Parts: sequence; C-alpha cells; structure tokens
Amino acid sequence: MAAAYDGTVTSPPRIGVLALQGDVREHLSMLREIGAEPVAVRRPEELAEVDGLVVPGGESTTMSKLARTFDLIDPLRQAAKDGLPMFGTCAGMIMLADRIEGGVADQETIGGLDVVVRRNAFGRQVDSFEADLDVSELGTPFHAMFIRAPWVEGVGPEVEVVATVATGPATGRIVAVRQGHLLATSFHPEVTGDARIHALFADIVRSGG
Ligand code: GLN
Repeated sequence: MAAAYDGTVTSPPRIGVLALQGDVREHLSMLREIGAEPVAVRRPEELAEVDGLVVPGGESTTMSKLARTFDLIDPLRQAAKDGLPMFGTCAGMIMLADRIEGGVADQETIGGLDVVVRRNAFGRQVDSFEADLDVSELGTPFHAMFIRAPWVEGVGPEVEVVATVATGPATGRIVAVRQGHLLATSFHPEVTGDARIHALFADIVRSGG
C-alpha cells in the first residue's frame, strides 16, 4: 500500500507527470526548465513518491481506461483527497473534474475539482486555436493553445476562476480554474514555450497545496 501524501516537499520539488497517454514529454521538459525534478508516473508506487502531479492533455476517455487498467484510478482519487497538488491540462482538466458533460458512458474521472467540464466544447469546426488570455496571478497575457479543448461550464463556491476567453464567440467561457491544491487549464501551456503556469503550479507544490 502506497504511503499517503503528507505535505512534505523535497527540494527541488519532485513533480510527476501521469504517463499513461498524451503529451507527457512536453510536460517533463517544462518541469525541468522551471527547476523541478520531473518524474513519469505509471504505477501507484511512483505516485506515492511525488510532491505534485501533472495530468497531461491527450484523450480523457483513453486515459481513464488506462488509469483503471494500471490500478491507478483509486490511488489517484485518494491522492487528490489527501491534498496532493495536481495540475490538469485539457484532457487532464477533464480528469480532475467532478462532473463531465459530453463524456462517454461510464467515463471515470479522478475528481476533486467542484466543476462541470464540457468536453470538446468549442465545437468540431474549431479543432484548435490560439488566444491571448489574462490569467489572474500573471502580470501579462498568456498565449494559449487550445486543441479540441473543454471549457468549464459551472463552478462550485470553492473554485477560483483563473482565466476566461476574452474575444470571439466563446467570450467569457472559463478556461482555467483553481481549487486549493488543484489547478486546471483547458489549454496546453506545455507547448507554447511559456513556463509561467508550470511555475505557478510549482509554487502551489512548494507551499504543500
Ligand atoms: N478532447 C479531448 C478529451 O476529451 C481532450 C483534448 C486534449 O487534451 N487536447 O479528452
């Protein structure tokens, strides 16, 4: 049985990337760039060793099936409940959501974020797009890349809205949220060369969530 997260943080912080599927490599290199110690996580024993966890983009239906196959879904849920800081991007945001719209039958999530997330929310015709976002806690706009992205349709009282879309038909849609130790973005900060959101997550990890 893996040890429960106890808020003790190594220096540099050891930050895992859930490595079942998706853009794992890009997150590992971003984490290296901001001075964290990046670790690929595929097994419950590896999950027990990290101070924080990135849940990457990819395909949430596949990721949730693999998490079940690899006996990780229950340890992941427990870790989120125990306060392990987690950062979900795109499919990872879907994985952290308590409720999903547009999911497949029996699609499981890790949960913990008191939000409703709509999968593929921007529509099939808008497969991917880029936009400058005002992200609270960052002084200047963040250039964001969206790929078949979800958005957050509803938030519970504990959830802080970190960024919304500023222009176009989706204006006002919520694309980044934080609830204590859980951070999530609809977009992919690991692919645009700006490490500030990873750095923000590392600060959350250092403060123990
Ligand atoms: N549409 C994907 C899903 O539902 C997410 C896309 C992504 O992570 N780039 O999982």
